[in-house]
Amino acid sequence: MARIAAILVAAGDGVRAGPGPPKQYRPLMGEPILRHSIERFAGAPLVSKLQVVIREAHTALCSQAAADFDLPPAIVGGTTRQCSVRRGLAAIEDVNPDFVLIHDAARPLVSPALIEVVIAKLIAGAEAVVPLLPVTDSLRRISSGEVGEAVPREGLCRAQTPQGFDYKKIRSAHERFAGANATDDIALAERAGMRIAAVPGEEANIKVTAPGDFAFAERLLAGASEVRTGNGFDVHRFRAGDHVWLCGVPIPHDRGLEGHSDADAGLHALTDAMLGALAAGDIGQHFPPSEERWRGAASRVFLQHAAELVKQRGGAILHCDITIICEWPKIGPHREAMRVSVAEVLGIDISRVSVKATTTEGLGFTGRGEGLAAQAVATIRLPA
Ligand code: MG
Repeated sequence: MARIAAILVAAGDGVRAGPGPPKQYRPLMGEPILRHSIERFAGAPLVSKLQVVIREAHTALCSQAAADFDLPPAIVGGTTRQCSVRRGLAAIEDVNPDFVLIHDAARPLVSPALIEVVIAKLIAGAEAVVPLLPVTDSLRRISSGEVGEAVPREGLCRAQTPQGFDYKKIRSAHERFAGANATDDIALAERAGMRIAAVPGEEANIKVTAPGDFAFAERLLAGASEVRTGNGFDVHRFRAGDHVWLCGVPIPHDRGLEGHSDADAGLHALTDAMLGALAAGDIGQHFPPSEERWRGAASRVFLQHAAELVKQRGGAILHCDITIICEWPKIGPHREAMRVSVAEVLGIDISRVSVKATTTEGLGFTGRGEGLAAQAVATIRLPA
């Protein structure tokens, strides 16, 4: 099977988009643009290696954006796009892929279908592949701010990324024409005499550049994804002990909780909520209590699994809300630690994690102190 790598070019200064953080790190629906682009390629089943190329000054921003993706460290690009790509191509030498896709990180809306079509063309024998869209607007030249002559649009197309290449050939073209300062890689493939094939580009695959592009990209993204919620509920009985685990935090108490695993009702309810949002069964199906290997297991393993399933579907965790129902122990003093713990397991910002607590006013099994309950709601976004 062909080995396919992808390079995400994110090494621009990103200042054309106006003040604030560089554009590739600005949020679209709550997530940095770069993270959206990483999601698209990390979720592409045929792409086995993903190399991100960044600016040195953006190292911390990139680590944040790529958190929880199993990627090789980002490499530092050069002063031009072309130089950055050349370095990216050199960085994946050890993988020696058959084909490489080169994509501008500022196009976070590329569809899985377009990635697949570019790969299919390469496998079918093309040396270079470019997604093209015809120009449909009339064209006019502006000179010194004045509206000038009409430019015929016949035969003109807009070139997008991802562009796909025979790895060895595009690498040698980059070495040979290192000073060309091309705005994309197909231009170098052309100079090197590579056989170029076109595939239809996508109108939604916009390059986020100007300040107004962000709102437009968000509207497109909202249309191309669905938001789902799931809920979970869990109960554990008190037994002798000196602490309970709740949301991944050990809380000193004059009793413990009975259960096959660590009996963390908070994380169990949240895991079920995430599985519910995915319509992927429940925690008991994924981690049967009949299996010895889950005895005493840290429940963060269950939650990590659910988060991984969301990621595999190309989705993102938007928010979770956990309510612990008990008279004792008091949750308030541990609430922040619990939020930190859940945010860490899910790889999301703490502002997206809510932990609350309530009593049942002495009523029912929680009121009598026989056990403790937890409920949770998880909200995720999945590609439509
Ligand atoms: Mg449980």
